[in-house]
Formats: sequence, C-alpha cells, structure tokens
Amino acid sequence: MASASAPEVVVVFDFDRTIIDWDSDDWVITKLGAADAFQRLRPTMRWNPLMDRMMAELHARGKTPEDIRDCLRSAPLDTHVVSAVKTAAALGCDLKVVSDANTFFIETVLAHHGVLGCFSEIVTNPASVDADGRLRISPFHDPASAPHGCSLCPDNMCKGKILGRIQATGSDKKRRRRFIYIGDGKGDYCPSLKLGEGDHVMARENYPLWHLICDNKQLLKAEVHPWNSGEELEKTLLKLAGEVISPPAQASQFDYSKCEMSNPASCPPSCAALITDQLLVRKY
Ligand SMILES: [Mg+2]
Ligand SMILES: [Zn+2]
Repeated sequence: MASASAPEVVVVFDFDRTIIDWDSDDWVITKLGAADAFQRLRPTMRWNPLMDRMMAELHARGKTPEDIRDCLRSAPLDTHVVSAVKTAAALGCDLKVVSDANTFFIETVLAHHGVLGCFSEIVTNPASVDADGRLRISPFHDPASAPHGCSLCPDNMCKGKILGRIQATGSDKKRRRRFIYIGDGKGDYCPSLKLGEGDHVMARENYPLWHLICDNKQLLKAEVHPWNSGEELEKTLLKLAGEVISPPAQASQFDYSKCEMSNPASCPPSCAALITDQLLVRKY
C-alpha cells in the first residue's frame, strides 16, 4: 500500500487494443455480420456517427442489445491485463479509462471479467438503449456546443482535453500526483503531450502512438515505455507504479534507439502484417 506521503498514481488506460487486444467496434460489427454495411458506409461517415448507424443496422437485422452484450462477452481479455488492473488498484492507484469506444461496450467487457469496480471513472462516448430497443451511441463532445478546437483529435472526442480535466480535478490537492498513460492509437497522442515531467506514457510498440512519439521525441515531457503484450503491459505498469510509490535511487531512461529499430520496413513479416491490419481498422 502507498504511504500517505507518496505521490498518488493515476493510471489512464485507453480501451481498444490496450486493455483489450482487439477493437470492440470491429469485433461487434464483424461477429454480428454487419461488416458489409460497415465497408459500404465507411467512406461517407466519420467513425462516431458511423458506429451509431451500425447499431441501427444491427437492430434492423434483428440483433438486440443483449446479443451485442453476449458478443462482447465472448471476446478474450488477457489474464495479465486483468491481473495488472487488479494489482494496480490494490496498490492504491486511481484507475481510469479514457476511450473512443462507448459506455455499453466498455462496461460490458470490464464487468464480465470482474474488473469494472477497479476503475474510478470511464470517460467515453455515451450509449443507451432507446424505446425501440436499439443501442444508440452519442458523441462524447456535444456537437451542439462549440467545437473542442483540437486539430489532433476527432470531432467527437479530444482525449487531451479530458486528461486536462482529470489533471485539474484531483481528489486531494495537497498530494502530488503522477500519471501513467497507456495507449496505442493516434487519439492517445494528444493526452500524451499534456503529461509532465515525472509522468509516464506506455505506448504500444509499432502502433500509431508509438510512431507519433518517435517522430516528435522532443515534444514529450513524460518518460516513454514500450510494451508489446499483456504480459509486458503488466510488468511495466507495476514496475512504474511501484517506483512512483517507492522511488529507486535512479530511474531508468527510455532508449530512443528502439524507435529506429522499430521502423516498419525492418519488421519481420508477422510484425508488418500487424501494422497493416492496424491501419485498416484505425478509427481516425
Ligand atoms: Mg486504442
Ligand atoms: Zn486533442
């Protein structure tokens, strides 16, 4: 347990391809047989309204919100990630999810694996079931209000703005706080830029966030740590959280030479396939 004088550790998780090793939107649409409609509509719609539209497609095909829940429950969650979440919560870290998926998908998955209660907050696009029994997905950022004004992020959500709000509204103002942000995607870059010295970004290696960080190394104040699997995520998160709570004599430095080593052109075929797959399903 953390001592009263140790900094509070706030761990912010992205959801798709971070907590889960898959993409929840992609999983539901593909498994419930609406990939054809997705492919047809994708060129004409932005991601967030497209997901609401896809829920209408599923409803028209007789799929209920309970079918969607069952579909999400059938997807795997790495046992190392479950253990990382439980252990970090037990250490006294404040865990949050900031995601461009939606409340229905995220809460279903986390509850199914018994870790929903480990998170103090889930910040994502709102979802609800309407009178017709159709799942509706709304943008996190109210389209009726002024645009959020961040050119890095999609219209419906700026994760950097969300992180700024979390940074500004600490539970205990007297206690220092250290942030650990874990993500993989383009949308995770904006919040990474908002972190300060002493904070940490855990970027999934060879995914868009990692490449953006490597391309603009000097822009980040936080320390960067790569991870490749649930096992590495667990190991790195618990090491960092432990170091914040009981600092070692000297913190290890991120080896930026790994950025050069992770150039997609030099990847083995399996790695290159992963990157191609990622680009196809990327949300924005
Ligand atoms: Mg992600
Ligand atoms: Zn932003």
